[in-house]
Amino acid sequence: MHLGGKFQACAFVQVGPTIRGAWQHCNFRAPRDAALDSPRGFRNNRRVKQSIVTLDLEGVLTPEIWIAVAEKTGIKELRLTTREVPDYDVLMKGRLKILDAHKLTLSDIQAVIATLGPLPGALEFLRTLRGFTQVIILSDTFEQFAQPLMRQLEWPTLLCHRLVVENDRIVNYQLRQSDQKRKATAALKNLNYQVIAAGDSYNDTAMLIEADHGFLFRAPENVRREFSQFKAVEHYADLLALIKAVA
Ligand SMILES: [Mg+2]
Repeated sequence: MHLGGKFQACAFVQVGPTIRGAWQHCNFRAPRDAALDSPRGFRNNRRVKQSIVTLDLEGVLTPEIWIAVAEKTGIKELRLTTREVPDYDVLMKGRLKILDAHKLTLSDIQAVIATLGPLPGALEFLRTLRGFTQVIILSDTFEQFAQPLMRQLEWPTLLCHRLVVENDRIVNYQLRQSDQKRKATAALKNLNYQVIAAGDSYNDTAMLIEADHGFLFRAPENVRREFSQFKAVEHYADLLALIKAVA
């Protein structure tokens, strides 16, 4: 590396790891780093933001757990999801009442979940995505439900809630925090990430609004119509292309 005549004049100060200190001491400017000219690195000391993707789980990577339980048990009321009911508390309290009335236990639901796998193509999509960016699953499911599905998705990071269980009976649910998808997205932005979010339901829309880029994936018509500001796609290849274009 050619350091120029000025540096040679004070090279006695020190060389090696503290060479920057020597420049500082001599009031010289450090030479431009090659990364300064990199289009994806630094330019004029302006850092290009790193990206992170936040994804919903059910309906995006896995089937809707409660619909599967409804089909297995024949209890039609359990088919309601966040796609139809915007208020999550109303939805969950209704589900718990139904479980109680039918004496369905956590084990009963876990037995249904054990039969589920990722949606066709979901694992390959997630592998590709995790190959070029960081991914966090933001879900309103519960720890007790999610584990077998996370194993099949090769253990992506998951932020979700927890059920309150007594003697195998689900007596309540505990939100890790209210409005967690939006708050997690805001927290990641506060860590200087560009957040790219994708989801399918009402409970994803606060996350999509908060994110730098939000996309709907396989959303029902009512959600697409009410939140028409978000691009909506149906196939993993299209979602990947949208994410790649901004990541
Ligand atoms: Mg969903």
